[in-house]
Amino acid sequence: MKFLVPLYCFLIVSQVTLAQSTYKKTLKLMGSRFDITVIADSQEQANGFINDAVEEIQRIERLISSWDPNSQTSLINSQAGIKPVVVDLELFTLIKRAIGISKLTQGAFDISYASMDKIWHFDGSMTKMPEASTIKQSVSKVGYKNIILDEANHSVFLKLKGMKIGFGAIGKGYAADQAKALLKEKGVQGGIINASGDMNTWGYQTNGKPWQIAITNPLNKDHVFAMLPVDDRAIVTSGNYEKYVKFNNTRYTHIIDPRTGYPSTGVISVSVLAPKAELADALATSIFVMGKDIGLDFVNQLEQIDCIIIDENGTVFYSNNIKPKK
Ligand code: ADP
Ligand code: MG
Repeated sequence: MKFLVPLYCFLIVSQVTLAQSTYKKTLKLMGSRFDITVIADSQEQANGFINDAVEEIQRIERLISSWDPNSQTSLINSQAGIKPVVVDLELFTLIKRAIGISKLTQGAFDISYASMDKIWHFDGSMTKMPEASTIKQSVSKVGYKNIILDEANHSVFLKLKGMKIGFGAIGKGYAADQAKALLKEKGVQGGIINASGDMNTWGYQTNGKPWQIAITNPLNKDHVFAMLPVDDRAIVTSGNYEKYVKFNNTRYTHIIDPRTGYPSTGVISVSVLAPKAELADALATSIFVMGKDIGLDFVNQLEQIDCIIIDENGTVFYSNNIKPKK
């Protein structure tokens, strides 16, 4: 009995001193809005964690940016058709994984989409459909099979002159994964990295409950139609309802099929759940290109991957494992 009293006191004290709160900061990184949320003991501690995450994201941006002429990615692009470029192992393996996703999606996802001629404009300025031959010509430099990797010295060679790679559909997901991994390593118990809809969570809320992710319909943004409790998986939403052009009653949206040069049709929003945000990000873009039927079929064949697709009529479709019970 003697021991119980001091032990009890200690428990109370430790509970008070360890009370943690949720801290959030919104920043512009990689040309997009990032919301970083961490659970920490104090504002000061949270600021330190958030700064570490920001530095990590900026480091990745310097590596993969196609805008920064000094990035290793720009160097690869500038040497297209000329010579291989030796890059950091990190960039080399990112490109290798991207090519893996191209193979998995049979070319619906392709980082060499970046060399596509810009013949489609989704700002209301187009008056007629481009000619079929112009559309075909626009993708003549696109093709992941012409990205040549040399494992021995981490070099990347784009075979065709004018070829380019870009990480627009995978980079934010990769940055969100890296920021999460860094903060976990630093002992942050729970948090959310939200890179403009590329969401990565870990741990629990301060009340011990899992984080909840609200899914909205782009046709009615104020209406949340699903609240998903998230596990350790990432959830990424791709979709820009405003960016489209309409010809002959067909609505063409801003994500273009890199194999044909035609914009995707039928789908207005895709959310993907996957173990990593990088994969979820790339698959969300791919499913746009595949369309609803092939996209659902594709996801239903993959382990640990789920998706929610919204078509142009606002109808919501779920992959088999997350179908809400009727
Ligand atoms: P967002 O991040 O805008 O929600 P996505 O994740 O779908 O949208 O990424 C769209 C970006 O991905 C485009 O702006 C372009 O840079 C790039 N992209 C478009 N189509 C493809 C494709 N088929 N394969 C790889 N990258 C693509
Ligand atoms: Mg994407």
